Amino acid sequence: MSDSDLNLETAARGRAGAVAVPAAAISHAARVVYPGSAISKGDVAAYYAAVARWMLPELANRPLSLLRCPDGVGAACFFQKHHADALGEHVQAIALREKSGSVDDYLYVRDLAGLLELVQMNALEFHPWGAQVDRPDAPDRLVFDFDPAPGVPWSAVVLAARRIRAQLQELGLQSFVRTSGGKGLHVVLPFRRGPDWDAAKRFCETLAKAMVARHPQQYIATASKSRRKGRIFIDWLRNTRGATSVCNWSLRARAGAPVAMPLRWEELGRVQGGAAFDLRKALRRAAALKRDPWDGIGTLQQVLPEL
Ligand code: ATP
Ligand code: MN
Repeated sequence: MSDSDLNLETAARGRAGAVAVPAAAISHAARVVYPGSAISKGDVAAYYAAVARWMLPELANRPLSLLRCPDGVGAACFFQKHHADALGEHVQAIALREKSGSVDDYLYVRDLAGLLELVQMNALEFHPWGAQVDRPDAPDRLVFDFDPAPGVPWSAVVLAARRIRAQLQELGLQSFVRTSGGKGLHVVLPFRRGPDWDAAKRFCETLAKAMVARHPQQYIATASKSRRKGRIFIDWLRNTRGATSVCNWSLRARAGAPVAMPLRWEELGRVQGGAAFDLRKALRRAAALKRDPWDGIGTLQQVLPEL
């Protein structure tokens, strides 16, 4: 049995309040990270250990941006995408070309040990690329990010996600849904590696703009803030090399410790909002789950069509 298995086993038996990871790995475990919810750094580590079984398939072996909050939520947090040796020995480096043309080390993890080292470095949010480290220029995930303007009812966000799903189904494509842990929903389309980022992004753009053409009062697919009023912004623009989306099961650095939660489509109607799952609910769900809500995503070999 590996160290990771050991951690998982202890964590599965732990509860939200208990530090179920080796105490030595997490310093300042009692330090409060979510002031309003009395959630400590130890709780955060125990959370990630408990959900790692479900989280790692979408996290591991993808270049990763972190949101680190050394002084907890409510204080200054910062995004980090570059590797540093200080992050830990299980945090991997991958040399990637920057937009500027230079090459720099990005970071990724392979396993629970790496994930917990990042938690030790006060990472709260995990944002992977839609591509894996062995082929960073060959995406395998597209994300339709539904961002409702203030006042748009949740039922409209759900409808939008279902409409994209139906569009994809008409093309013979299976998609998956998660709450963002914030205001909205993400619909994720997995596909077989082959198309480059430009082709993948074009596909997303075409679908998003078709939705807008059909329902111009309800949706918008351009980043214009002024025209967004009362509408849902279908953000397809982030499907580009170097962009990220929040990972399934990632905590958000927002009050209440909300979580980005993968759902089965049949569950969506019972979910109350983008932040419906918090750390405690997510822990209960992880413990009760028999199957991954995104079961099958790893073996689907669907081909992204040319539109
Ligand atoms: P919400 O439902 O509240 O919109 P979200 O996670 O979808 O939550 P967005 O602002 O819509 O948040 O951003 C979409 C994705 O883009 C995020 O999940 C994140 O991965 C990435 N992102 C957003 N802002 C940044 C940033 N400043 N630096 C790096 N990545 C970012
Ligand atoms: Mn969003």
